[in-house]
Amino acid sequence: MINNINVALIGNPNTGKTSVFNALTGLNQKVGNYPGITVEKKIGFSPLNKLTKARILDLPGTYSLNASSMDESLVVELLLNKNDPDYPDVAVVITDVENLKRNLLLFSQIKDLEIPTILVVNMSDQISRSGIKIDVKKLKEKLNTEVILVSTRKNSGLSDLKKALADYRMLSIKPFLDTKIIDKEYFESLQLAFPNQSLYKLWLVITQDINFTKLDRQKVSDSSAFRSLPKSQLKNLQQRETIHRYKLINQILKETYKKKLEEATDLRSRLDNILIHKFWGYVIFFFILLIVFQSIFEWSSLPMDFIDNSFNKIGEWARENMPRGILNDLITEGIIPGLGGIIIFIPQIAFLFLFISFLEETGYMSRVVFLMDRGLRKYGLSGKSVVPLISGTACAIPAIMATRNIENWKDRLITILVVPFTTCSARLPVYMILISLVIPDNKILGINYQGLSLMGLYLVGFFMAIASALILNRLLKTSYKSYFVVEMPNYKLPLLKNILITVWEKTRTFITEAGKIILAISILLWFMASFGPGQNFLNADSIIIEKFSEEPMTDIELDREISTYRLENSYIGLLGKSIEPLITPLGYDWKIGIALISSFAAREVFIGTLATIYSVGSDDQETIKNRMAGELKRDGTKLFNLATGISLMLFYAFAMQCMSTLAIVKKETNSWKWPIIQLLSMTVIAYLAALISFQLLK
Ligand code: GDP
Ligand code: MG
Repeated sequence: MINNINVALIGNPNTGKTSVFNALTGLNQKVGNYPGITVEKKIGFSPLNKLTKARILDLPGTYSLNASSMDESLVVELLLNKNDPDYPDVAVVITDVENLKRNLLLFSQIKDLEIPTILVVNMSDQISRSGIKIDVKKLKEKLNTEVILVSTRKNSGLSDLKKALADYRMLSIKPFLDTKIIDKEYFESLQLAFPNQSLYKLWLVITQDINFTKLDRQKVSDSSAFRSLPKSQLKNLQQRETIHRYKLINQILKETYKKKLEEATDLRSRLDNILIHKFWGYVIFFFILLIVFQSIFEWSSLPMDFIDNSFNKIGEWARENMPRGILNDLITEGIIPGLGGIIIFIPQIAFLFLFISFLEETGYMSRVVFLMDRGLRKYGLSGKSVVPLISGTACAIPAIMATRNIENWKDRLITILVVPFTTCSARLPVYMILISLVIPDNKILGINYQGLSLMGLYLVGFFMAIASALILNRLLKTSYKSYFVVEMPNYKLPLLKNILITVWEKTRTFITEAGKIILAISILLWFMASFGPGQNFLNADSIIIEKFSEEPMTDIELDREISTYRLENSYIGLLGKSIEPLITPLGYDWKIGIALISSFAAREVFIGTLATIYSVGSDDQETIKNRMAGELKRDGTKLFNLATGISLMLFYAFAMQCMSTLAIVKKETNSWKWPIIQLLSMTVIAYLAALISFQLLK
């Protein structure tokens, strides 16, 4: 029988929790979310010896058990709730050897919860470089628990850690600080009222602003057996607690730990001088971005073309080699293109996260966050929103996945909600064709109108993102202040293993989670375009053959007429017609209606659909464009005039029109609530913008 033990990895941000987690579990990990909230939950397994296996939980970064963010309260809640299935048998506090003092505060609090607690002093490879001297044996004695020097970079100390985990029952659970020392009278009366409870746990229950499900805070606070204190006095006692803890920590470190400062921080401060410089900092960041996006575009275009071609080939092959019929159509027109539509995002996602995790691993990203925070905070965004917002110009999917680095839930949610306004690459083909149709190819002061319009559309998208962030910031309530603690880690050479695991994790999550939804909607759209109610759809062949029996036509022309007629009478065609009254005020007819509906799958489908409707077989732009230019309204005027064109462009600028984004928002926010709110409000904004622009310009 293998014995499973629960292990929780706890520590300040950036101390190497995830690195230790990766080192212990390898690829044997599951990433999910905590129920109902957006905080990521990572669980992995690691065999300790023949008899024991550790089930390891990588908890979010925490500075102390006095929770000031959702992430922190999650940790406190877990540690206070013995009934939680994740409640640790043993806690591992990961610390950074260069910041031991600050890190030990959290350690001391966890030890006081009377949970067996192992202290990992990570980044031990930095010891000699930073001139640190540490007496591990004495530290063990003083802290009264196992202390292990680890370096995930050098892969050292991990087997000692495993051994200590397996033997966790030998660890002392004696508290670090005698809680009563904070205020003798108060804590003695508290202990008398609840003689069977750990004193420090009671204290946490009283002081934390969290909803405890199992431990009843009200019951503790309302108990008449001890005098309850007003909030201000509780705060006072909390401060005294921290002071007492640091006093003890300082005493212990004085005997066990020495650090020569200057040499190690020299390189760091020199780099910081230019990387967070008021002017050069931004210039450097701008160039790094330029390189990153250039590379993403360049490197991913080849694999994306390859994927595109392969799926076309697979589709053709399947069409020819499988028996004709509905199943053939479903596979070749629904499933294969649907799968292709998922796989095609992989290169962009993988490359973006390769760069992001590289910049993060080196410590540079914290500097960027610091640089950007001041400007963005006014709008309810955080410095960490920069990367998602800029990534959104390539594609909203990886951009939304990149918001995971934003710890504050409200900041993160706002970023997720506004990112789809930035102009993604899928809007580009739509803009290009509409601009070339309705904007004259003239110049003013040497600047081309068409180019200017395109830039205008990018700016409109960006402006909309900022404006809605400002509004959402007012609307969304939060119980947590977003304290801005910039953690400035030392510059480091990145760990390849960490980067690769991040890339692999993001890509896999996208395929398995968003992929399901994308595939389902592709199949639904295929179904709606391939079937229709009534005789017109069923008898499309004979109706068209009869209609054109007088005119000389090639088979190919006739085929196109038939498929156009069929599409017109399919479910999606009828839907297009039924929304006509709604979209006429925007300047659209039912054909555009079909294109709008089907381009919900992805914006770029718009052109393909119009091509089909206008019976253009090839996807040659010139032909589609001429065909679109020739379309007339019932009154004989041009359908695609300036008013309709602008109205359509604004519609595409603001509407959600991307099921993959919807799917990823569902995945990242863990509920349908936000994607639906986003879909509805973006559609309303798009509709109003299109309506107003058309009515003004027509
Ligand atoms: P977390 O925020 O606590 O999960 O920390 P991470 O695991 O993400 O690591 C933060 C940074 O520390 C990354 O840049 C890691 O590459 C780096 N790091 C992790 N372990 C070590 C180590 O043993 N030595 C050194 N020098 N750096 C490390
Ligand atoms: Mg981490």
